[in-house]
Amino acid sequence: MTEPIVLPDFDSFGDQAIKGLENPEDATAATQALLKEDRNSGEPAIREPAENSLTLERGICREGVWYRDAEVRELTGADEEAIAAAGNNSYKIFEALLLRGVRTVGNEFMNRQLAGELLIGDREYLVMAIRRATFGDELDFTELPCPHCDELVDLTVPLGAIPFTRLDDHEQTEFEVPLRRGETAVVRLPNGEDQAAVLSLKGDNLARQDSEILSRCVLRIRHADGTETKRPPATTLGMSARKKILAFLTETQPGPRYNDFSFTHDTCGKEVPLPISLAVLFRGM
Ligand SMILES: [Zn+2]
Repeated sequence: MTEPIVLPDFDSFGDQAIKGLENPEDATAATQALLKEDRNSGEPAIREPAENSLTLERGICREGVWYRDAEVRELTGADEEAIAAAGNNSYKIFEALLLRGVRTVGNEFMNRQLAGELLIGDREYLVMAIRRATFGDELDFTELPCPHCDELVDLTVPLGAIPFTRLDDHEQTEFEVPLRRGETAVVRLPNGEDQAAVLSLKGDNLARQDSEILSRCVLRIRHADGTETKRPPATTLGMSARKKILAFLTETQPGPRYNDFSFTHDTCGKEVPLPISLAVLFRGM
């Protein structure tokens, strides 16, 4: 506990791969969340009706009915071994966590296909619930060096203080993004399958990753004259349209924003970004 914490610098969460733009407003939201910690501490009761149960933002649809309830369980030594077998590939670790730690979504037991069907944000929320079930609700940081004043900070972060984005309408699956010249893109939000497709691309060409997400998630472009182009190849979209759509997908994706967490250091009064990685969430493993 006396060792200074070395912050992991890898991107553990899928939204990084499709993050076309930064969201400075989320950093502010994170601070506010921490400041309002007391008030927020009353909220998880809404999110977690029972200890290992949670309500997803989107969930799954079966024969026209949406199921948003999910149940997770505490990870055991056997799970730890299975997860360790995933090596240090953060996507594989994430997938293993979901497959082992989630019991049910709706009336179905967790399986690979179901995991792929879930929105990225629901997957990340489930991982938070598995963390809570396994190691409790608080993240403890000891002797965290403040980058502004060098003081070592001890900090306890309740999981509820991590900024969280909600869907206005849980059952809305198509969204309209206004583009230039009266055009509109009709899009859907990326899920686990999309995330896997992006991560399976060779190399780390960000433009190609963006194209992959766009070609999967842009359903059609509606032109000013009312005609539509279905499934436009992402490479034919203008740069401004690509940027706008990617920003929309990132901002609208519900769930926890682990990378956007920050806190205000009491001593110097400055804002300290503290991205919460998978390694921080599951430090005990
Ligand atoms: Zn400071």
